[in-house]
Amino acid sequence: GRTLGVFTSGGDSQGMNATVRAIVRMGLYLGCKVYLIHEGYQGMIDGEKNFQLGSWASVSGIVGLGGTIIGSARCPEFRERSGRLKAARNLAKAGINNLVCIGGDGTLTGADLFKKEWNSLLDELLEKNEITKDEYEKNKYLNIVGIVGSIDNDFCGTDMTIGTSSALHRIIEAIDAIVTTAFSHQRCFVMEVMGRHCGYLALAAGLASEADWIFIPEHPPEPDWENILCKRLQYHRLAGHRLNIVIVAEGAIDNQGNPITSEYVKKVISSRLKIDTRITILGHVQRGGATSAYDRVLGARLGSEAVLALMMSHNESPPFVIGINGNQPCYIPLVEAVERTKAVAKAMAAFEFKKAIELRGASFER
Ligand code: ATP
Repeated sequence: GRTLGVFTSGGDSQGMNATVRAIVRMGLYLGCKVYLIHEGYQGMIDGEKNFQLGSWASVSGIVGLGGTIIGSARCPEFRERSGRLKAARNLAKAGINNLVCIGGDGTLTGADLFKKEWNSLLDELLEKNEITKDEYEKNKYLNIVGIVGSIDNDFCGTDMTIGTSSALHRIIEAIDAIVTTAFSHQRCFVMEVMGRHCGYLALAAGLASEADWIFIPEHPPEPDWENILCKRLQYHRLAGHRLNIVIVAEGAIDNQGNPITSEYVKKVISSRLKIDTRITILGHVQRGGATSAYDRVLGARLGSEAVLALMMSHNESPPFVIGINGNQPCYIPLVEAVERTKAVAKAMAAFEFKKAIELRGASFER
């Protein structure tokens, strides 16, 4: 069997543990040796002490835990070749030449670079006598697959990223709780949710909570949105509603590209309509708490599929991202997925929203 390593990197999200669990167990089932690499790329650079040989029991009882039990880190050192050289040395010493990377687009970009450089890194290590000829030969090829963990659902090439569904549950729980108090006091609540470049959470939360209004980065409101919003809220009040919910994605902007903050929305509503208006910023609550059933199952599916993809990899295989498309697992060339995700961010910054949405939604040749 092969020797695999799995690590989590970048921002954490619920469902990462469920994914790790599936990777370890599918790996063991197929006769592989599976290492849990703690603390992301930093752990790889720091070496052996962060490599834990996974057993069936080592991933028991974690399927529903938020966060990642093997730790995540931002690692500036991995952006330098010297850092990647250390990481390559430690992996080669441990015989790990199959990696499952769970993270966002930064993590996957780093993984792609690592694979591209792998041979030259090993050459250098051999030359410096940091690895033996035997270690060199045994680890000649590095196979990589990636899985996207992100609560924002902001990655191209997969219908859902791991963590999005759980974050949405957290938002809806919070809104449900607030609705009771808003109802009692006839208040308006402005809820700020995560999503810097992607309004998915705000949009889905709006649908699921009967919100009066949502602000998302992909769709700046009309120039006179303040009037329209106030009219809308007033209309609802006259129709007998005792409360209002307005959802603001953290990356919401107006049609000039200026941020629309929850603070500003509150000011507009309270000054014009004289409604008692409160702000709730959910922040990291969205990343916390139990993992939704959907994310647990998604983690199980993508994690086991990732191991199968590694088993089929050979030295010519490009790195893949394992995603979900039409409820089926799919393999997307990693570079293409990352590039398209970056193109979306660029289109958003250039106010080309239609293009951004098309890029995000368009399916890949598979
Ligand atoms: P999130 O979406 O939560 O921010 P992410 O994976 O995009 O997740 P980053 O902080 O961008 O998070 O990346 C995680 C780590 O990946 C970095 O700390 C760095 O070690 C590595 N990394 C990111 N970009 C590169 C790159 N261009 N080259 C090499 N390594 C990189």
